[in-house]
Amino acid sequence: MNLLPDWKFDRVSQISPDFLKKEGISVLLVDLDNTLAPYYHGSPAQHTIAWARLLRASGIDIVVYSNNKTDRPRGFAELLGTEYYVKQARKPRSDKIAEALRITGKNINECCVVGDQIFTDVLLSKNAGCRSILVEPIKLSNPLHIVRFALELPWRHTK
Ligand SMILES: [Mg+2]
Repeated sequence: MNLLPDWKFDRVSQISPDFLKKEGISVLLVDLDNTLAPYYHGSPAQHTIAWARLLRASGIDIVVYSNNKTDRPRGFAELLGTEYYVKQARKPRSDKIAEALRITGKNINECCVVGDQIFTDVLLSKNAGCRSILVEPIKLSNPLHIVRFALELPWRHTK
């Protein structure tokens, strides 16, 4: 299976509204841990909050789309100024994509997954039939996360 992301950026704040509009993308399903903030951090960095504000002002919806089962995704949605979040998303399964599209009123063709992992975020996009942006993990400290990152290297450094 092709596990290559459509695009790669170092961090979410590099993804510009102009780029997304050019590609016909109007809704981002954004992973939380190590994409919006490091694991266990309570809030996104200022540049991430400013980025979310810029996107929303440009008419691009952000859905915090996380496998986290707690209220953390809702809290991050609030901090980013978006009312949209999906928790316990069970990525890479794509069954909850329908919920994200329903709450935003968007079509799968306008949708792009953003995340730091190949086997959850990029694979989700393949399962859902939408596009994907891979970002670098903000902070790798947990040994299991480092091993997982190493296993993903064949799909991370191809273009
Ligand atoms: Mg992540």
